[in-house]
Amino acid sequence: DKDPRINGIKTTIRVVPDFPKPGIMFQDITPLFLEPKAFKDSVDIFIERYQGKNISVVAGIEARGFIFGPSIALAIGAKFVPLRKPKKLPGEVISEEYILEYGRDCLEMHVGAVEPGERALVVDDLIATGGTLCAAMNLLERVGAEVVECACVIELPDLKGRERLNGKPLYVLVEAH
Ligand code: AMP
Repeated sequence: DKDPRINGIKTTIRVVPDFPKPGIMFQDITPLFLEPKAFKDSVDIFIERYQGKNISVVAGIEARGFIFGPSIALAIGAKFVPLRKPKKLPGEVISEEYILEYGRDCLEMHVGAVEPGERALVVDDLIATGGTLCAAMNLLERVGAEVVECACVIELPDLKGRERLNGKPLYVLVEAH
């Protein structure tokens, strides 16, 4: 039942122990971009899934959501909206703080980029605890958009991030343990 392209994608992901901190098994997706076939396959699978679903906005999370989001947005005819780390966006913004393993972080979105009633897809490279996707969804819902789904290349299922998404569907290509 699994898409035969998935294994080719999975084999490109490099696991780097203790990066950037001791105890973290860092999932490095940069080797995926060195394999044009696997990189295209990953984007194509998302496009096939979201084509025709009436999605008007793809929201990409800084930084690695910016690598996948725009290609999906262009292919399905949606706008692309970057959700950025604090103090990067020059216009008026709304912000969502969230808790990380160590300390806190924040995502910001330009006011006016997304309008009430829009149908949104949220894209990032990886879900760990789910805090980042949760903050992203809050930004979109605060301006009246409907989040249709979240999409990531990799899920770390042991961290149960999926349970923090308040029942919102999450679609991932690869599970890593
Ligand atoms: P979380 O908010 O805990 O779901 O963390 C997800 C965000 O942190 C994503 O933007 C990921 O790029 C990054 N991240 C967290 N854990 C890892 C990991 N083990 N390997 C690579 N990126 C990670």
